[in-house]
Amino acid sequence: MSRLDSAIRRLQAQRACLDHAAALIADRDGIILEFGLGNGRTYDHLRGLFPERDIYVFERAVRAHPDCIPDADHLFEGDFFDTLPTAIARLGATAVLAHCDIGSGDAAESAALAAALASAMAPLLAPGAVVMSDLAMGTTRLATLDLPDGVDEGRYFLYRSD
Ligand code: SAM
Repeated sequence: MSRLDSAIRRLQAQRACLDHAAALIADRDGIILEFGLGNGRTYDHLRGLFPERDIYVFERAVRAHPDCIPDADHLFEGDFFDTLPTAIARLGATAVLAHCDIGSGDAAESAALAAALASAMAPLLAPGAVVMSDLAMGTTRLATLDLPDGVDEGRYFLYRSD
């Protein structure tokens, strides 16, 4: 598989998981969390899926397309681990979906970041919240969910919080 094929499959898997997660939480009230704004692509997709919900975004340095930048009330700018305490105090355990798109080119660094973020964001998750991630996030508080049809094992990760 070429790197182009791989990139296309990753984006298709990401969109399929976002759409699937939207169906999983359709009958639940609650906020959405986006970790890793990047270019704003997945944030923009989330806005389309959840036009009525509050979506809170966490990003170290905002460099997204100008149309894809949340307003100041919905943006926690800075390192995740610096901004999470403020977010937890403000929002509490009200998130029914958290999407984490945080990986970099460094596999070991990314794995450590995913593990640390899984624990640090837990106080924001409502019981039974769905967590989606580009990286494995194994913790005892997250049960693995089946991926939607067409998404290969290990390409994206879907969990339900306890
Ligand atoms: N979801 C984005 C999109 O669709 O365009 C892509 C996100 S990009 C792969 C990962 C983002 O996570 C980067 O913008 C990076 O700055 C952010 N990030 C990584 N580690 C972070 C940390 N510890 N604190 C805050 N932001 C972080």
